[in-house]
Amino acid sequence: MRLRTIFLSGFLLVAFLPAAVLGWLNFSAETGLIGLIDQSGSDSVLNALPLVLFAAVLIVALLSILHRWTVDPIERAVFELRKNAEGQRLSTINVVEGKGAIREFIDLQDSYNLMVRRMTKSSDQLKRLAYVDSVTDLPNREKFQDTLHRVIADEELLAKGGAVIFVDMDNFKEVNDLHGHDVGDQFLNSIAKCLSLVASQYYNGVRKKDDGVLYAPVVSRIGGDEFTLLVPGLTDDDALTVFLETLRKAILEPTSDLDFLHVSGASIGCARYPQDGTTIPDLFKRSDIAMYHAKSLGKNRAVVFESGIGTQTEAELRRDVLLAIQNEELFLEYQPKVYARDRSIAGVEALVRWNHPTKGVLAPNDWLPAISNSHVIVKLGNWVIERAMRDHAKWVEVGFDLRLSVNIGAKHFIAPEFISTLSELSRKYSFNHSSLEIEVTEDVLFGSGQSAADVLFRLRELGYTVSIDDFGKGYSNLARLAELQVDYIKLDQSLVARAQQDARVRSILSASITLAKELGCQTIAEGVETVRQVDFITHMGADMLQGYYFSKGMPAQNIVPWLQMLGHNDVHRQQAHLLESVG
Ligand code: C2E
Ligand code: MG
Ligand code: MG
Repeated sequence: MRLRTIFLSGFLLVAFLPAAVLGWLNFSAETGLIGLIDQSGSDSVLNALPLVLFAAVLIVALLSILHRWTVDPIERAVFELRKNAEGQRLSTINVVEGKGAIREFIDLQDSYNLMVRRMTKSSDQLKRLAYVDSVTDLPNREKFQDTLHRVIADEELLAKGGAVIFVDMDNFKEVNDLHGHDVGDQFLNSIAKCLSLVASQYYNGVRKKDDGVLYAPVVSRIGGDEFTLLVPGLTDDDALTVFLETLRKAILEPTSDLDFLHVSGASIGCARYPQDGTTIPDLFKRSDIAMYHAKSLGKNRAVVFESGIGTQTEAELRRDVLLAIQNEELFLEYQPKVYARDRSIAGVEALVRWNHPTKGVLAPNDWLPAISNSHVIVKLGNWVIERAMRDHAKWVEVGFDLRLSVNIGAKHFIAPEFISTLSELSRKYSFNHSSLEIEVTEDVLFGSGQSAADVLFRLRELGYTVSIDDFGKGYSNLARLAELQVDYIKLDQSLVARAQQDARVRSILSASITLAKELGCQTIAEGVETVRQVDFITHMGADMLQGYYFSKGMPAQNIVPWLQMLGHNDVHRQQAHLLESVG
């Protein structure tokens, strides 16, 4: 029934009833209403009474039906809505139903319920967005923290112990740069599946042995290429080592549809509760410290937190390096390179050091890995270039126009303003472009795609020289080397150190020198420490030598005295002479 119909009929009824009563009264009294009054107390009133009563009953009945049809459902609806509001929940209501219900109320109820269903759906979607990582469908950081909170807040679960594991992919940026973001997402998905598989295999294994009441592991992606795992119950040292090793190896296995990717692994850090922490910040921080330690040890490994491995996370270290640059706590040392043919000075390489206010002088390997993927590496690189050019200008003033080399990080090398800043600084210090050698590691040139190749081309066009540092340390890509024209190849010190004892290393060294020559590059042997190495490497055909045998890095002000003391052209003989006189 429609509300409009009810009201219309009610209206007609209310209008019709008094008219009928009046009509009837007029009909029974000859003088009409006045006559009726004149015949005071007459039977006419009594005669009219049943009809009046009937009309009253009819009106009361009508009102009560109206009440049931209108006021009741409204009251029930108000009650339900208030309950929803007070309970802060959205649920459908069912206050009007059945045949006698008013159509408009049913429509109103249906519309409200539809709205509730739609809002519930969007709120579910919002919740999903808030708790699920959209790329991998894994729980996100919030969800992970939520679960971790639930576990460590529960005394029994906390006492059972477990592991919080940080996984940071070692070469994700390369995947994105070389193959685009779609492949990057695919790669993250395959890593997500692989981590989940290892976690669930572990869980199924322990569930069989255990009483089956263990909390299931949680795998989440907390940002970029960072994943975390919570593995309740994983406390046994051996089991933990096996688990982490399985995880590390599984990451290295490329999935069949991504087998064209060169997956160089992940740095994995682990903190255990309750012994390493019982709060989310402590556990996150310590697994992060362990992960950073794994990274600085050379990546593709897993480290379990212990107090000896440090107290700072990567982010804290990054912040401190930035402050160190601002506070002038960094300084440069210069290590000479000599020509193999006559041992005359070929140039110097700038090496950065950090004079830490509490820890003393820190070598770059202690803190460079923390900044190499951030903008701080650009700040550091620019600081090094400027400081080195300033020192160089002082040597030039006293007659030593040395070739200068600086190490440049991957992110800096392909930064848009790299070349313009370099040119600006060269102008500021009247620096001859051809005196500057940019040292970059293989992964910069071979891993950063076309952008690195473009920068290399432009640098050489401007007259700078470029060398590949630490060649032979990583996965040297000989095919790519043929495509990219560099000026120097620096043979890594690990090759130099092992060449005399190991015939295979000797072959690699010799082949690298031959290859470099054929590609029109010169070779520099790094880490030359003994006179035997000097002779051996010279004999193999390296063009230049660098290492402790000639000198360690030294402060800028020692370079000129060093050159004067040893003589420009006879470093080797003088060194040999010195060694002989000592020995
Ligand atoms: P690198 O560029 O290959 O520099 C050579 C490293 O080997 C230096 O270590 C040097 O002190 C050390 N070395 C030189 N000769 C010998 C030797 O005969 N025996 C041994 N055992 N070591 C020798 P350092 O200064 O600790 O630097 C380590 C790495 O840090 C450098 O390797 C370079 O990749 C990076 N680095 C240094 N300074 C900078 C910088 O200013 N910017 C950037 N981005 N990286 C830098
Ligand atoms: Mg170098
Ligand atoms: Mg090197």
